[in-house]
Amino acid sequence: MFACGHDVKRREAKKEAARVASGLIETAARTATEDVELAKRQAALARRLALKFNLRFDWSQKRFFCHGCKALIFPGANARVRLGPDKMLLITCADCGRVNRKKLGARLNRQRKGQSNSLRE
Ligand SMILES: [Zn+2]
Repeated sequence: MFACGHDVKRREAKKEAARVASGLIETAARTATEDVELAKRQAALARRLALKFNLRFDWSQKRFFCHGCKALIFPGANARVRLGPDKMLLITCADCGRVNRKKLGARLNRQRKGQSNSLRE
């Protein structure tokens, strides 16, 4: 039934799904301050797409999802963002109380090193 064309079609569908999913997350982020419930539905849809098509979100998209309850978390709407010790970003979910951690240190150090090297030229 699905001979050689299937893989290509699937890849195209995956690309389209990735585009729709990131669009949904963007929309959800904009909606979150006005209507958290609607934003959560949009984010849940994006997550379902990601699961179905095996998409990988990068950090800029992943950070909107709580690791505990998998729902949308948005700073100012239902999440609290604090800077913890050792350049750790702490995002607390207001729904389940889970603290989502993100280490910021590594990337910042690398950028700083790159800058000081180029200045010496
Ligand atoms: Zn949560």
